[in-house]
Amino acid sequence: MFHKYKSVIEEGDTIIVYVSPEAMRPVHVKSGEIFNNRFGSFRHSDMIGLRYGSKLRSNNDKGFVYLLHPTPALWTQVVPHRTQILYLPDISFISLYLDLRPGKVMIECGTGSGSFSHSIARTIAPTGHLYTFEYHELRAATAKKEFEEHNLSSIITIEHRDVLANGFGKTDIADAVFLDLPAPWEAIASAKDALRKDTIGRICCFSPCIEQVQATALALDEHGFSEIRMFECLAKDNEVRTVPFPDIEEAINGQKINFKLSKCDRKKRKLESEPASGGHDDEGKDAEILISKPIDTARGHTSYLTFAILAPEVEEE
Ligand code: SAM
Repeated sequence: MFHKYKSVIEEGDTIIVYVSPEAMRPVHVKSGEIFNNRFGSFRHSDMIGLRYGSKLRSNNDKGFVYLLHPTPALWTQVVPHRTQILYLPDISFISLYLDLRPGKVMIECGTGSGSFSHSIARTIAPTGHLYTFEYHELRAATAKKEFEEHNLSSIITIEHRDVLANGFGKTDIADAVFLDLPAPWEAIASAKDALRKDTIGRICCFSPCIEQVQATALALDEHGFSEIRMFECLAKDNEVRTVPFPDIEEAINGQKINFKLSKCDRKKRKLESEPASGGHDDEGKDAEILISKPIDTARGHTSYLTFAILAPEVEEE
């Protein structure tokens, strides 16, 4: 259940076995099978009946894992890669700009590893629908099986189809189209066909090179799309920590404030400022402030996101 939550693990569920943020694995729960990692063995039959979020100790008691409920965000971190995939910064940005929400109908080309498809399904459920196309037969079959195992078949229809050779086969039904193809500009005409004409249609094309963006923007313009805009999502990490509040005397005298006090310095400072005895609890306690600073340059170019809208057709009187 990727679009709904339930409390207890059952036979046939896909769960996320969590050791650390860097070590998570998807497990399809089946009695009789065993999950092994460096902490030992974990019987699937011991997982069945436990509440999601439970901690399970290994058979030899050398360690434990957490059994997490699957979500599209976790799936993106554990999905077996058959292709390059979309990650959460791009997924959330695209979902927002395509105005995805429950009830929307969306078209995705191609499906790839199904990373984005899972998030789309959760966002448009329970009444929306995703049509996703993939021309690589094995990838299409693998994604179909995963959607079935994850109870997403009522929300996602996957078709093995070459959308450049055969179009989408859909007219006037989609609120949004997403193209993650090597030549998205060749699919703009089909996208226009598929988008609804009675409301604003939205499109996003995901391309790694600027030359592809230029070709796509030209095709969008030729086909009557407007508000053509391009974005790039780059991740920038910030380190957030508490440091002792700078001494007022130091600040007044313009002395250099040392935010990098070692643990030992901080303890010394605290002891020096503490009264010998008595006094109010807070007296002499170092005031602390929360500081945040970027710890790296922006990283993670994945692709450029080209968005455009198709304005509704207005009937002339
Ligand atoms: N967005 C996907 C995800 O998050 O997992 C990854 C998509 S992957 C980068 C691009 C996919 O498009 C590939 O699996 C490829 O086989 C498929 N593809 C390329 N050309 C296609 C075409 N003409 N028709 C349908 N699928 C196509």
